[in-house]
Amino acid sequence: MARAKEIQNIKKILLNMKNEIMENLKERMKSADISDQREIGDVFDDADLEQSREFNLLLTTREKEKLEQIDAALTRMEAGEYGICEECGEQIPIGRLKAMPFATLCVKCKSKKESLEGYTTALREEKA
Ligand SMILES: [Zn+2]
Repeated sequence: MARAKEIQNIKKILLNMKNEIMENLKERMKSADISDQREIGDVFDDADLEQSREFNLLLTTREKEKLEQIDAALTRMEAGEYGICEECGEQIPIGRLKAMPFATLCVKCKSKKESLEGYTTALREEKA
């Protein structure tokens, strides 16, 4: 059960990361003064915020990517698939998940993949 608890902690961290981006964005929306028709903060909940045009305009590419990664990780948590290697189906050690909460591969598969990518060119030349 320790693992489930650790994953809950990571979930909290992810939600905090998401909140932080949302709060920054709300501040930016206020200062950008594009909110003359509605009060941001009270009327807007985060679900509305994510759908709004202003949201997409003010969000930087990096923030967008980060939000996508956070949402993907949260979705995997909901499905009970979080922390399971996409490649071999083994559990990813919790220490690795803490360091890299968006990791979807275990160390073994990750390095296998990386070395495969690295050697592809060399192999191709050898076989030719
Ligand atoms: Zn694996």
